Amino acid sequence: MDSAILNQLRGGYCRLNAYLFKIGQVDSELCEYGNKETVEHFLLECPRWDAHRKRRRKREELEKLTVTRMCGAYSSEKLDGPIEKWRPTMQTVREAISYVKDIGRLDARTTN
Ligand SMILES: [Zn+2]
Repeated sequence: MDSAILNQLRGGYCRLNAYLFKIGQVDSELCEYGNKETVEHFLLECPRWDAHRKRRRKREELEKLTVTRMCGAYSSEKLDGPIEKWRPTMQTVREAISYVKDIGRLDARTTN
């Protein structure tokens, strides 16, 4: 289940409006705050989930987060240092998964 969540976040193929709109399942790609509801917006920006984010992390930590990091993937030498020395931060990945589960936004509620 957890790996399914990570795959959805990595690929962006999940039940967020940016994707649902692309495949014709909803009429708008916006979240209820009027922003395009991408994975990045959902995980890092949407005001709707601010309380969830702040409950888990301090502000400085939030500022360093990227979707790539939350999915446990390497982004670039500039951000993560040399790949030979790089390891995913499993705590960050686990927290991302529990954030998604808490909110339940990616759960299938309707049949496709
Ligand atoms: Zn939003």
